[in-house]
Amino acid sequence: MNLNPQSKPLPIPEAELADLASRVPTPFHVYDAAGIAASLGRLQRAFAWHGDFREYFAVKATPIPAILRLLASCGAGADCSSLAELVMAERCGLSGDMVMFTSNDTPDEEFAKARRLGAIVNLDDISHIGALERCAGLPDLVCCRYNPGPLKQGNAIIGKPEEAKYGFTRAQLFDGFRILRDKGVRRFGLHTMVASNELNPQYFVETASMVFKLAAEISRELGITFELLNFGGGIGIPYRPGDVAVDLDAVGDGIRECYRADWESAGLPRPRLCLECGRMVTGPYGCLVSRVLHIKHTYRDYAGLDACMANLMRPALYGAYHHISVLGKEDRPKDHVYDVTGSLCENNDKFAIGRVLPELERGDLVAIHDTGAHGSAMGFQYNGKLRCAEYLRTAPGKFELIRRAETLDDYFATLVW
Ligand SMILES: *Cc1c(COP(=O)(O)O)cnc(C)c1O
Repeated sequence: MNLNPQSKPLPIPEAELADLASRVPTPFHVYDAAGIAASLGRLQRAFAWHGDFREYFAVKATPIPAILRLLASCGAGADCSSLAELVMAERCGLSGDMVMFTSNDTPDEEFAKARRLGAIVNLDDISHIGALERCAGLPDLVCCRYNPGPLKQGNAIIGKPEEAKYGFTRAQLFDGFRILRDKGVRRFGLHTMVASNELNPQYFVETASMVFKLAAEISRELGITFELLNFGGGIGIPYRPGDVAVDLDAVGDGIRECYRADWESAGLPRPRLCLECGRMVTGPYGCLVSRVLHIKHTYRDYAGLDACMANLMRPALYGAYHHISVLGKEDRPKDHVYDVTGSLCENNDKFAIGRVLPELERGDLVAIHDTGAHGSAMGFQYNGKLRCAEYLRTAPGKFELIRRAETLDDYFATLVW
């Protein structure tokens, strides 16, 4: 129970973060290996009842080999949506049905690479059946992505399903699976992903129920068998101090009930159940450590950090909340209000607007929470701002560099002078 609504525990002890910051340049992202492994374990245990469950970690959330290898060593596969992610999964030792390829607007070379890897291809559109066949040949197993449109409500990040660019309509799914069947495909999967950062466990249960019912209906109508049902990612995390983490056991138990009612009762054979979560697996177990460079008082009070939106763009992109702890000052009264900014020349380069914090001084260290997913991954180089180093805490007090900071040479490397 968190009695102070403005505080939130750090994923790594404060003293360890301060010690690391005294030894290496700020800013940096740092992740806790034990926290990530435990989070994956909770997800896997929630589906242990099924006996054939696999989490395919969404690589785009944290595309770093050390993280992918850690997750693979705990039984997770990789959900890839680009050539780079496929190659990274391959170089981390993942191939075959440990790789799911969930792309959209897919270039031919990506279909070809996915096929060479033996990855499970998850098609985004009925027209992609022809594209896949033309450039790589149809595999034995094909999965298709369902977009329920107005039949399902979305949420703020992913938007309404009918406005989302992803997936087949319901009618297209029946046509698509019929075409695949008639072309000789014998193994089938159905996928959907309709939420992002959703905290309501019931939402995932309803999504699974929708998929079970639809797959059962398609099976009956077309005489095909589904061996894989993938409910996508989108499990949210408690970014705000008052948020409650998704009860994964409630999700697993709820899906178990639907499985019995909507699938087993129809006498259908057991499919593999899959999720492709990114955020809930790594998100809470990373933070961005940065130092206050300047305190500025004008029409508002600003604390300028040495990190900027190139290191974490969720606040600027979605107005997302990321909690900020001031190292060594968490017990001080929170009686100042700051806009916490970066140095990029865009006025939305702000990690927080009007945030209540203890009084800040130049040199203070802050930890921006929950940057373990969709944090450094969204980094970019606009304004010549470079990506910072990333570390993995492999044991208490022990940190390994898993990505070095970019240098000016990296930035200039592609320019023709
Ligand atoms: C981004 C993405 C995910 C992961 O979403 P999270 O919110 O990180 O769980 C999973 N599947 C697909 C297809 C995605 O695009």
